[in-house]
Amino acid sequence: MEDNVSSDQEEGSNERGSGSERRGGGSSENDEESDEEEQQFDISLAASHSYMGNGLVQVSGRSVLEAGWTGRVPVIAHHGAVFPGETVPMLLTNERDAAVISRAIQHDKLFGLLCPDESGTLVSGYGVLCEVFEADAGVGEGEGEGPRSLSFKARATHRFRCVHVPKQSVPIHAFSRMRTVEVRVLPEVRLGDPLRPARLASLDALRRARTPLDARLRSMDAAVTPWPLFVYDIFDYRRMRQIIKDYFRTMSLENLPEEAVSLSFWTASNLALSARDRLALFAVDDALLRLHMEVRLIARKSVLCCSSCAVEIARREHIFAMSSEGVHSNYTNLGGYMHDIVTVSRASNTELSGAPSAEFSWFPGYAWTIALCAACLAHVGWRFDAQRRGLRPQQFYGLCRNYVQPRCDGAGAGAGAARSLSAELRAARRAMSALVYAPRDDADP
Ligand SMILES: [Zn+2]
Repeated sequence: MEDNVSSDQEEGSNERGSGSERRGGGSSENDEESDEEEQQFDISLAASHSYMGNGLVQVSGRSVLEAGWTGRVPVIAHHGAVFPGETVPMLLTNERDAAVISRAIQHDKLFGLLCPDESGTLVSGYGVLCEVFEADAGVGEGEGEGPRSLSFKARATHRFRCVHVPKQSVPIHAFSRMRTVEVRVLPEVRLGDPLRPARLASLDALRRARTPLDARLRSMDAAVTPWPLFVYDIFDYRRMRQIIKDYFRTMSLENLPEEAVSLSFWTASNLALSARDRLALFAVDDALLRLHMEVRLIARKSVLCCSSCAVEIARREHIFAMSSEGVHSNYTNLGGYMHDIVTVSRASNTELSGAPSAEFSWFPGYAWTIALCAACLAHVGWRFDAQRRGLRPQQFYGLCRNYVQPRCDGAGAGAGAARSLSAELRAARRAMSALVYAPRDDADP
């Protein structure tokens, strides 16, 4: 898939394009001419990245790294924060980069994606370690000539900070090719329930998750501390998990990670956030604080707007999952550029450009057409049209996270609502450090 507009328009394709337009959101109840059986798109197909071909084979061996681990790894610039747990499909078209990764595959399979700062142009000093788990067959075997290009899939595993962060600003494009740097793995702090050390242990037998009685017992626990209950509720994992679960249920995403650290990363990956808010969440070491901020972000009503001219492109309620990985996923194009795509059932203020094509389609069975912002003609994503009449959905849009930005909707819109998440995080961290935590051995919940 390419960003460039293809020049060879086909009559047939155009016809189908406008037909899809008429059908709007994709519901064609009565005008079905063929009896083709309806079939819902299998969202695990998108997560398998089948467009990369079936030449990829499993790479065996895993590295176990702990917080504080330091090491030298090859790193390359990325256009935003990638959270641990995300799949990173990559196609390296540069011979040298391909050689670096094929050596890494022989060694520890690790490389890093550097995250830019808030402006998107400078090195932030943060990044994510990725571990290759599938690569072109034959890579890393023998000492002969390296491959010309290399396709592989990796999984983001650990957040890191560069050990030597230069005092002066370094442009991110200084890392547009693989370079080896020393990195340190950041800790993932999972603080326990702050009320647990203060609880009345004799009442433990009566405690059940999310019952009115449990809530009463919690307020009794809080009564023996100097802080009111709501202060503790901010870091009540079960409450936050329920809010997140309810929110993603509306997008038909049901399989949330159980554990707090993974859930905080998964949520960050799947929320429609600005690059700045993503970086702020990325830099947080404690999972409960990250979850707390995510719950705050969920409460904000926002629309997705063109990054260039701020015209509205999609509404949050139209975000839905076309991949089992979630509503946001990374895909690579034929040029080796990785796009972070959010899927929406409908979009407004867009204009199609060029003919539909099924080549290298990230969603098997769908042809893509470039979608531009109708106001400023900036590229915002692609429209995907089903190639069979029975396939559901018939049509949807994949918008690039970089080309659309969330903007607060409604009365609070503007400077006030766009309060920076980093400022809120600082305030929350101050409140949190005032609480006394005791380490816990047992895993929650
Ligand atoms: Zn625009």
